[in-house]
Amino acid sequence: MDELPRVSTDKAVGPVDATMVPRFAGPPTFARLPTLSSLDSADVVIAGVPFDSGVSYRPGARFGPAHIRQSSRLLRPFNPALGVAPFGVQQVADAGDIACNPFDIASAIGQIEAAASALLAGGRRLLALGGDHTVALPLLRAVHAVHGPVAVLHFDAHLDTWDTYFGEPYTHGTPFRRAAEESLLDFQHSVHVGIRGPLYDSSDLADSARLGFLAIHCAEIERDGLAAAVSRMTSRLGSAPVYVSVDIDVLDPAFAPGTGTPEAGGMTSRELLAMLRTLSNVVAADIVEVAPAYDHAEITGIAAAHVAYELVSVMAREA
Ligand code: MN
Ligand code: MN
Repeated sequence: MDELPRVSTDKAVGPVDATMVPRFAGPPTFARLPTLSSLDSADVVIAGVPFDSGVSYRPGARFGPAHIRQSSRLLRPFNPALGVAPFGVQQVADAGDIACNPFDIASAIGQIEAAASALLAGGRRLLALGGDHTVALPLLRAVHAVHGPVAVLHFDAHLDTWDTYFGEPYTHGTPFRRAAEESLLDFQHSVHVGIRGPLYDSSDLADSARLGFLAIHCAEIERDGLAAAVSRMTSRLGSAPVYVSVDIDVLDPAFAPGTGTPEAGGMTSRELLAMLRTLSNVVAADIVEVAPAYDHAEITGIAAAHVAYELVSVMAREA
């Protein structure tokens, strides 16, 4: 695999060269990038977290990492929107999947935190491909151990600050309440984007605000426009180190049908990508809730692959 012709620079070993090896061939890594084990070092690592035992409705996000990788084969080396070659100015590598226990959530959370801590060592940035949203909690624990409290930029239809489901504290609807309780997030600089749909109670919104999140609702993006939403988001984030958590259900089901708890009236992929391109100081990120059994024509997988590409591109700002 490492004998293949690659688009490389003096700084980085890049993807397999698509002018030499067809895109439907070659390694099944993200964007056909080199594996972490084939390199001496890396600046950004991409890791799959195939865990979905925390879901409340449709299961299947355990197959998300493989689906996003398959849908990333068409990504090209230069990002014209940002004027950067994200795989050329920094070393990006695919670390494979984190093995996590599908029968025991507490055990899986421990495994994910430990693996993420190892991947973050040496100042590396991490992009995790879920998996359901439960995985954000152990990832945030690992990030907090390196960076202290981070601004959590959370794209989601849902608040994910609920307390318990069936009495259980660790689920895909509760990671940000647990993260707030553990003081993993920066309470002055965290924000939800894309919130919409029915809630359990009006107090859900007050709870979320009390737990440290400003909420930018889809209805506000519709009313005030994207530029106003970007302005609110960036002023909230300030200059804090940022953890970006993208639940793919922030997109409308038209743009991301392959997910566990879809809600009508969501963002377009164009809006989401545009918001991501404004970011800086992103130290780690996740993309979660891609459930390929409900996807077709790779719609959701391609959206997730492009979200990943923009996140790696903005990480190059500090490369
Ligand atoms: Mn969601
Ligand atoms: Mn979520």
